[in-house]
Amino acid sequence: MHPVTHPGAAYLLYAAWLRLADTDRRTPSDGATLALVVGALLPDLVDKPLYHYGLLDVPSGRVLGHSLIFLVPLSVVAIVAVRRSSLPDHVGGAFAFGLLSHAATDAVPPILFGQFDELGFLLWPVTHSPPYVGYKPLFEVAGVTVTTMWVDFLVLAAALVVWWRDGRPGLAPLRNRVGR
Ligand SMILES: [Zn+2]
Repeated sequence: MHPVTHPGAAYLLYAAWLRLADTDRRTPSDGATLALVVGALLPDLVDKPLYHYGLLDVPSGRVLGHSLIFLVPLSVVAIVAVRRSSLPDHVGGAFAFGLLSHAATDAVPPILFGQFDELGFLLWPVTHSPPYVGYKPLFEVAGVTVTTMWVDFLVLAAALVVWWRDGRPGLAPLRNRVGR
């Protein structure tokens, strides 16, 4: 999944969860949306520079930031830290949701395509994380190969529609900050 698609996927999953679960809120709050986006972007922000600039001798672009060995403790620390801060409690949960949704959604194509060795990133460095092979072909229509990149576009478009209909949470605080 493209780094930019992850916040979209996280938003769709989180918004669906709020609607399905018996929670007080029906749509994501401003704080939850911003925390969700940061959480969903963080794995690639950590791992891609490590890999592409050779900062550490890592085998692929899915290592530290994609491994549950680091993501689960980081999620717990974030939830506890937010509980002790003046931020609303659910903001920590939203950050953890974004983080973990990134690893979960990166795991979906390898599972669907039966390429289980790719799932090694989930427990790196205990298991080997093979280099990411990119988008996978799905089917052909009129000579055009439809790949998982098309799914990325659909997810992002759907997320933008749902976010817009939810009242664009997270936008107002950002605008206020920029306008200050
Ligand atoms: Zn990723």
